[in-house]
Amino acid sequence: MIFHWSYLLLIPGMLLMFWAQSQVKGAYRKYSRVPSSLGLTGAQVAERILSTMGISSVSVELIEGELTDHYDPSASAVRLSRGIYNSTSLAAAAVAAHECGHVLQDRKGYTFMNVRASLVPAANLGSQLGPALVIIGIVLSSLGSLSALFVNIGIFLFAAVILFHIVTLPVEFDASARALKLIDQLDILQGDEKKGAKAVLQAAAWTYVATAVYAVLQLAQLILMSRR
Ligand SMILES: [Zn+2]
Repeated sequence: MIFHWSYLLLIPGMLLMFWAQSQVKGAYRKYSRVPSSLGLTGAQVAERILSTMGISSVSVELIEGELTDHYDPSASAVRLSRGIYNSTSLAAAAVAAHECGHVLQDRKGYTFMNVRASLVPAANLGSQLGPALVIIGIVLSSLGSLSALFVNIGIFLFAAVILFHIVTLPVEFDASARALKLIDQLDILQGDEKKGAKAVLQAAAWTYVATAVYAVLQLAQLILMSRR
């Protein structure tokens, strides 16, 4: 590993990620202790939303882990972690409704969701190979133009990672907006309970912002290191 001053650029990104993680954990901990007055579990919230929307082909399943909740379009399944699936808390309603927001995006052919899905292979390749190619290019700097080619391909591949994280932002924000609307329309939460759900989803949104910012800083770091 080469040490270069540009690595210091990553520190604010790491701090932002750490802060965002602690926000989401804090909000989750707080609102997973507050039961909703209607008393539906996360699984029941998801089932109610899907049946109201006339979607019968998507199943609601239990998955292990904490905050591992997601919608899997290829399996047509909303997977909820135990703490959400069985819980009647405000956090459970918020997360379950958010995942149903992704189902609706999928059903409506939401553009950013399609763009995001098409970027997955390039982003995986870029995150694994991009930084390695830049470092190989720098180490082999005696090779002249071949070295520059390694560096440029590495940077180009890593740019796909950034694009992926940036396109993730509207997808996640939109799913949360849909979730809050559904919670309101279907009377899943009452009055101030909605504020709790909003706080959980807003905290989660920060983790996506932090990840995108960190990826941008990583790209800036790679470019600065390669221009030394
Ligand atoms: Zn989401």
